[in-house]
Amino acid sequence: MAERSILIIGAGIGGLSTGCYAQLNGYRTTILEMHARPGGLCTAWNRSGYVFDGSIHNLAGSTPQSAFHDIWRDLGVVPAIPMQAFDELVRVERADGEPLTAYTNLDRLEQHLKQLAPADTVVIDEFISAARAFSNLDLLGLAVAGPLARIRALRMLPLMLKYSRITLEQFAQRFKDPFLRRAFPSLIYDWPQTPMIMLLSFLGRSHIGDLGWPAGGSNAFAHAIERRYRELGGTIRCQTRVESIIVDGDTAVGVRLADGSELRADIVVSNANGHATIFDMLGGRYTSAAIRRYYDTPQDRIEMGIHVSLGVARDLSAEPHAIVLPLDRPVTIAGEERQRLYVEPFCFDASMAPGGKTALKVMLATSFKYWSALQDSRDRYQAEKHRIAEQVIDLLEKRFPGLRQQIEVIDVATPLTTLQITGNGHGYHAPVTAMVRALFTGRRLSQTLPGLHQFYMVGQWAGISGIPMVAAMGRDVVRAICRADRRTFSTRS
Ligand SMILES: Cc1cc2nc3c(=O)[nH]c(=O)nc-3n(C[C@H](O)[C@H](O)[C@H](O)COP(=O)(O)OP(=O)(O)OC[C@H]3O[C@@H](n4cnc5c(N)ncnc54)[C@H](O)[C@@H]3O)c2cc1C
Repeated sequence: MAERSILIIGAGIGGLSTGCYAQLNGYRTTILEMHARPGGLCTAWNRSGYVFDGSIHNLAGSTPQSAFHDIWRDLGVVPAIPMQAFDELVRVERADGEPLTAYTNLDRLEQHLKQLAPADTVVIDEFISAARAFSNLDLLGLAVAGPLARIRALRMLPLMLKYSRITLEQFAQRFKDPFLRRAFPSLIYDWPQTPMIMLLSFLGRSHIGDLGWPAGGSNAFAHAIERRYRELGGTIRCQTRVESIIVDGDTAVGVRLADGSELRADIVVSNANGHATIFDMLGGRYTSAAIRRYYDTPQDRIEMGIHVSLGVARDLSAEPHAIVLPLDRPVTIAGEERQRLYVEPFCFDASMAPGGKTALKVMLATSFKYWSALQDSRDRYQAEKHRIAEQVIDLLEKRFPGLRQQIEVIDVATPLTTLQITGNGHGYHAPVTAMVRALFTGRRLSQTLPGLHQFYMVGQWAGISGIPMVAAMGRDVVRAICRADRRTFSTRS
């Protein structure tokens, strides 16, 4: 068969992965990326020698035991990038007394919890035994598992359903110990409303060394895949924004760029924002009731919406890599009352800051509307960013006395930063039970669109968010394209 061409809109991890697998299977591909460099949300920014990471905290597939590890090998991440496992997920501090440390070793965690709260042995036993059960189930890995592995995983279904329906905050009410009741809901990025299944899966998989950190973080990770793509012969055109997808007789035949020019190809794949792809680039002509329902329920809350990053001339390597810091009294930041700060000193990776110094990040949940209201006034927007940085620094000063004087760089990223750089604004509501169902069935919302031929979507908008999930989708989309073209799918060059 003659070489077929594919245009990929967006060089996020989903787009890069699609490009790599398509090149491996003999397609001629070009990725069109509106930003100055590839990576999308999987990115970091350099400021005066400090690296402020915008994405990766925990990477599924960092251990060879994970189903995703082979994908990292296909995409040139492994063995190029060493992976590091974490000993702890987070430390939840208190003003007076020992913190709650989420050790990733479950024996150590069990001992620690029982020593902190001896009266809560029964609940702790239930919690640890559930986490052990989840260490044997690669929950996210179901996305890339074969039918047999999915059927085998069905034995865990009752446990999955039980812990999908209860949040960390609700589960914590079962502890008698007041500190544990208070601290437990913060164990996953300080998201108390997270379903327990996420914590159990995190702990279970971290216990076997998964969900670690790739050396160099998000930038190095995205760059490794970009390098692999180019080595395989793929082309990336950066600073190239796609305005619309050209359709001829219900078949996608190319794209129209922001400068008015047109590019043609046999197949078009979009890795861009789902709403923008379906309703702007395609004018909403190819949808289903499920797609419309999903995009009808916007979600204003963005959990990791504000990143206050500081370059500090101070060695914080003796500190935990993630700290939940309770405030002595609530403080209103970006229009919301805050009781705690989520603080991350990135000292576990020497490449993140000059020697003896620290890239420190504080992440805050926020409302998308709060920021869109500031979109039209640059002065008010800048003033708000400045105010937030000052508030955060004041609060950090109490925990790290002298820090203010040691700060060399201040950087505040908001949902508007993310929107501008990646085209991603707010998300849409999707219940966790739908995610579990999708993992089991492999069904995705919009890998293809009803009635539109030679068109595919890839990435977090078409499936489940998370770097491994979108990389796996790239592989699956190319497998589907090969099937349609009656080619044998291959992962080897
Ligand atoms: C703060 C934060 C922390 C995270 N932490 C983790 C973590 O610890 N572990 C994990 O696995 N995942 C994490 N994630 C999620 C993960 O980063 C994303 O799910 C993943 O990177 C999404 O990749 P994607 O390819 O689907 O899309 P994107 O990264 O959104 O890529 C889409 C690309 O398309 C481009 N584009 C958009 N519109 C156009 C257009 N019109 N023309 C041309 N190009 C266009 C964009 O510029 C972008 O490069 C985190 C995300 C965030 C925001």
